[in-house]
Amino acid sequence: MDRYAVIGNPIGHSKSPQIHRLFAEQTGEQMSYEALLAPIDDFAGTLRSFLSDGLGINVTVPFKEQAWALVDQHTPAAQRAGAVNTIQRQADGSLLGDNTDGKGLVRDIQHNAGLSLAGLKILLVGAGGAARGVIQPLLAAGPAQLCIVNRTVSKAEALGALFIDLGPVSAAGFQWIEEPVDLIINATSASLAGDLPEISPKLIRPGHTWCYDMMYANEPTPFNRWAAEQGAERCLDGLGMLVEQAAEAFLLWRGVRPETAPVLAALR
Ligand code: NDP
Repeated sequence: MDRYAVIGNPIGHSKSPQIHRLFAEQTGEQMSYEALLAPIDDFAGTLRSFLSDGLGINVTVPFKEQAWALVDQHTPAAQRAGAVNTIQRQADGSLLGDNTDGKGLVRDIQHNAGLSLAGLKILLVGAGGAARGVIQPLLAAGPAQLCIVNRTVSKAEALGALFIDLGPVSAAGFQWIEEPVDLIINATSASLAGDLPEISPKLIRPGHTWCYDMMYANEPTPFNRWAAEQGAERCLDGLGMLVEQAAEAFLLWRGVRPETAPVLAALR
C-alpha cells in the first residue's frame, strides 16, 4: 500500500488523515495516510525515516520552514513562500517541496464561496508563515491592492518587500489603515488564544466587506464573531482552505484532483 502522512507537533488534532481517507475512497486510490508526531528536536530524522518507505508527506506547525530547508527541490510556489507543506518523494529518491496553502485559500474564496479577487482591495492581517504562503497566489488573482498589516510592523514590511515585484503589495501597522476594504483575511494566530488583532472596525463596510479567518473551529471564531458584529457581508473560516490545500497535495501525489465539496460537507 502506498503510504502518506502528515507530520507536526502537536498532531493529534489534525483533520488531514480523515480528509485524505475520504479522497482515497472517492477516487479509488490504494493508499494509506497517517498522523506522525515528530519530536521538536528531531523533525529531520522522523521525516527521513518515514520517507524511506512513504511516497509523500504533509508538513504542519511548526515545521514548514525546516521542511523548506530539507528538501532537494522546490516548486515555484514553495520557493517564494519559504515554507513547504507538501513533500513528494520522487523516483530517484530526491524530495520535491511544494506549498499548497495559498492555492487552497484562493480556490476556497473564488471557487467555493464565489468571490472573484480580481480588482479587490484586500487586507491581509498577519505576517507569519501562513501569510507568507498565500501572498503569491493572492497577487496572481489580480487584486487592485494587497495590504499586509501586522502587530510587528517590520515583519509586514519585510514580507511586502519580498513580493513587491509580483503585484500591488504594501505594508502597514494595525492603526495606520482605516479605509474600508473589500476583503479582510485573518492570517494571525490570535484566534487560537481567543484574541483579536487590533484592527479598526472602520475597515469593514457593512453589507459589503467579506472576512476570512484562516483558523477554523466548530463555533464561529473570535475574529468572525467580531466581523459579523461589524456587519460584514460574509464570514468564512479556514476549513475550506484546509480541504483545498489537501486536494492540491493529493493531485501532486496521485495525479487526480478529488471533489472537495462532499468532503467539506462531511467535515462540517
Ligand atoms: P505564525 O506563528 O507563523 O504567525 C503568527 C502571526 O499571528 C504573526 O503575524 C503574529 O504577529 C500574529 N499574532 C499572534 N497573536 C496575535 C495577537 N494576539 N494579536 C495580533 N497578532 C497576533 O503562525 P502561522 O502563520 O503559521 O499561522 C497563523 C494562523 O493560520 C493559525 O491560526 C493557523 O492555524 C492558521 N492556518 C490555517 C491553515 C488552513 O489550512 N486553514 C493553514 C495554515 C495556517 P507578530 O509578528 O507581531 O508576532
